[in-house]
Amino acid sequence: MDVLLPALTDPAAAERTALRVTSPNAGEVTLSYRELAAAAGRLASALAGTPPRVAVWATPTAETAVAVVAALLAGVPAVPVNPRIGERELAHIVADSAPASVLAAPGAELPPALAELPRTDVALTGDVAAPLPEPDAEVPALVVYTSGTTGPPKGVVLPRRAIASTLDALADAWRWTADDVLVHALPLFHVHGLVLGILGPLRRGGTVRHLGRFATGALAAALRDGGTMVFGVPTMYHRIADELGTDPELATALAGARLLVSGSAALPVADHQRITAATGQRVVERYGMTETLMNTSVRVDGPPRPGTVGVPLPGVELRLVDDAGHPIEASDGETVGEVQVRGPNLFTEYLNRPDATAAAFTGGWFRTGDMAVREPDGALRLVGRRATDLIKSGGYKIGAGEIENALLEHPAVAEAAVTGEPDPDLGERIVAWVVPAGPRPDEAELVDHVARLLAPHKRPRVVRFLDALPRNDMGKVLKRALDGRQHG
Ligand code: ATP
Ligand code: MG
Repeated sequence: MDVLLPALTDPAAAERTALRVTSPNAGEVTLSYRELAAAAGRLASALAGTPPRVAVWATPTAETAVAVVAALLAGVPAVPVNPRIGERELAHIVADSAPASVLAAPGAELPPALAELPRTDVALTGDVAAPLPEPDAEVPALVVYTSGTTGPPKGVVLPRRAIASTLDALADAWRWTADDVLVHALPLFHVHGLVLGILGPLRRGGTVRHLGRFATGALAAALRDGGTMVFGVPTMYHRIADELGTDPELATALAGARLLVSGSAALPVADHQRITAATGQRVVERYGMTETLMNTSVRVDGPPRPGTVGVPLPGVELRLVDDAGHPIEASDGETVGEVQVRGPNLFTEYLNRPDATAAAFTGGWFRTGDMAVREPDGALRLVGRRATDLIKSGGYKIGAGEIENALLEHPAVAEAAVTGEPDPDLGERIVAWVVPAGPRPDEAELVDHVARLLAPHKRPRVVRFLDALPRNDMGKVLKRALDGRQHG
């Protein structure tokens, strides 16, 4: 394989800014490509040959980026760990991935399960080490744990080949250049923030501007200061949409960006429309997952496509498959099938889970567990996950996503999630979990609203009100945590 991060050794890139990170404790840290290569090179020389893996305490800091780049240079698989992880999940990840040591920013306090391991503090300085030989393309580069939305997180083994092919495909699709400055505040322990958000710009010789934590004021300032692209998750765009009405400077800053991108979960159509109305910008939705990195993207030069996640990236093969395992050819926006993916972007295996790995593939295709329809123009519209979002009610297969979008169009609804629950007549009945925007709305009014916008069989049979939806660190709704919730 070619070199994963050529800008690290390219003399022409040496003085360009690779990373600018606002850290909660260290203030703002800026590293040029020369400085990044020196710091990561020194750490890589110390790491080379460490079996079998190293853990990275993945705080939103420059140290995390240096640690991951160093592990990549050394050919030692890095396991990024969520610094806000719970004890039980951490114990699982440490036992499962058996890291030889942990890399952390100096001064970072580690929980007991990691503090027991040998620790290396990541320095942001170094002398340029002799470049290490580029590891083979199939060597595992990262082990990234899934978000744990549908069950316990699985360790996804990602080879360099998958990372390089995804980054090249997305850079081409989004016309990414060395002049781009990507602004984001995504966590660095998932593929969205780490692979796309850090390694993406670095592969092209561009700049990462990480805000440390998300705030609309900091986002606007970073855009005014040269930022060209924004990556976010729907909860961030929801906050942006809320604040746009009262903050004209935010609207102006966003209007000046080259590209706004949303991924990791469905962007509610209503939020997308509010952002377009205030800024004139489309939000490019992308669809991907830990196991496949990125699969699809909305075309950057087409019209806004709220509700769809676009077309497969070059090199990614994608098909929809019905319950009997037959590919669905229709582009009717109606026929629901499971998304299956094949291509150089795929992971190799789930760590220590040969059973789960075998079950995830069918004839070389990866079963995503996500359900979608194909629109007439070929764009994919996700309707939800097979496990939690596909409701079989009265002989219909109904995706939770479109009902959630319909509920969110009602002014009295701030947040909505839709689930199915056993019903003696219907098989499953549709349950709407609603966080009111103000005073609690009338249930019947919400039900009528959905029946009017969609179809009568898609109306919720039960409406339950909550103060907030349970969400994980990526802002994804944890539907399994909704079952058995107290409601009134
Ligand atoms: P787990 O596999 O542990 O249950 P997870 O699937 O949430 O967790 P990730 O790999 O981080 O873990 O997330 C990938 C999933 O996120 C996809 O399978 C899909 O369901 C969802 N997703 C990603 N992008 C989008 C998008 N643009 N719109 C809707 N859903 C999305
Ligand atoms: Mg998953």
